[in-house]
Amino acid sequence: MEKRELLRGLPAVDAVLREPAAEVLVSRHGAKATTAAVREALGRARREILAGADPKISGETVLAVAAELLEGRGLRRVVNATGVVLHTNLGRSVLSERAVEAAVEAATSYSNLEYDISAGKRGSRYDHAVPLLKELTGAEDALVVNNCAGATLLALSAVVAGRSDEEDADASGEPEVIVSRGQLIEIGGGFRIPEVLELSGARLREIGTTNRTRLSDYERAINENTRAILWVHPSNFEIQGFTESVGVAELSTLGPPVVADVGSGALLPISDEPRVEAAIRDEAALTIFSGDKLLGGPQAGIAVGSARWISGMRRHPLARALRADKLCLAALEATLAAYLEGTAGNELPTVRMLHAPAEEMREKANQLAGKLVQVAPNLSIDVVPSVARSGGGTLPLYEIPSYAVRLKDEAGEAEVLAEQLRVAEPPVIGRVGEERLWLDVRTLLDGDEEAILEAVEVLDG
Ligand SMILES: *Cc1c(COP(=O)(O)O)cnc(C)c1O
Repeated sequence: MEKRELLRGLPAVDAVLREPAAEVLVSRHGAKATTAAVREALGRARREILAGADPKISGETVLAVAAELLEGRGLRRVVNATGVVLHTNLGRSVLSERAVEAAVEAATSYSNLEYDISAGKRGSRYDHAVPLLKELTGAEDALVVNNCAGATLLALSAVVAGRSDEEDADASGEPEVIVSRGQLIEIGGGFRIPEVLELSGARLREIGTTNRTRLSDYERAINENTRAILWVHPSNFEIQGFTESVGVAELSTLGPPVVADVGSGALLPISDEPRVEAAIRDEAALTIFSGDKLLGGPQAGIAVGSARWISGMRRHPLARALRADKLCLAALEATLAAYLEGTAGNELPTVRMLHAPAEEMREKANQLAGKLVQVAPNLSIDVVPSVARSGGGTLPLYEIPSYAVRLKDEAGEAEVLAEQLRVAEPPVIGRVGEERLWLDVRTLLDGDEEAILEAVEVLDG
């Protein structure tokens, strides 16, 4: 049929809304949203026709697309077949069962969030998770806030604000924080160290160069206005070649408190990622890291360090604005308990995915491919070694050996195949390469295999 004819054959918005099935959508999502979704569905059909397709369009099919659009809104499960374990766009870490149970209990019952049970009076939400963090890291004290960006802002604000009058006696100018130019980084989502420093009220005192900063650069920059030295782990990129930087241990000998933003929160060894305990052993005044990166817990910003500076953070007015909620605290405690009990490697899905041997991935991929061949005889399917990544702005060059199932259809349009799996329920997110769709099995969780089989079966049929 001619394009023009096909376009003329499209139903009108009103006609679609008079379909019996439209009533359900209107009652569920309201007339306004349903009409908008029908318009969008018709727009898509029009674009498909103009692109040369001959879609079988009826009121019913338009409504089906509209329903997908309406129901597709909101936060929901997706299958991560990208092989990127801490995929920031897909929600970073996956909680353990124990963490989920703890969060559910905190959500569905009252708790001692801010209540001291033995004393029978008001307690502090800041006390939760603290004993576990102290035991795990060897730090004097700890504080949990909303995320690592918040913890960094709060730590800097506290060290800028928090000197006694006596110590401030020599200060004549604006408070300064020293940072190496090699660490003036952007983490992602617009979180830039120089801007955070400015927000904290400190003047940025940048030293050294992008590739080389020496201890003597720090020594020369220290003056009576220096409030802290900030050390940032450049976690999402690496500079190789002619480089030099100074570690936390050496910086800690210089006098001003060292705030170490280690970012990824590795409590177990992985690649050459700096471990949290190391920063504390190296006597950083404050060590800051994320709860939902390599740690494998809920979104949180964790600060551990000297009692004096943690207490300064706790008392700062920003602490209230950045405080962690009870679900996070409950899930974090359960996550940390797994580390203390030595079960983290098996119990925490994120940690398990990061460390599982490649051989296990090969078996998993072969198994999935075997089942896919059954449900999708028209696709060409193979299993190949692939490279998984930790993601989430951690370990950018670290390659985790993995395996992927690759799909290719007759037409060879891998992008189309990828889109078809993305609109499945739940959506399956893979990666396109070498004209095939790659499904990396390292990031597949329980139940994901079934979801992939269903999605592929539908599109093959
Ligand atoms: C990821 C990261 C942050 C931000 O952590 P969020 O928990 O996402 O706020 C800050 N600093 C470093 C070094 C990081 O790697």
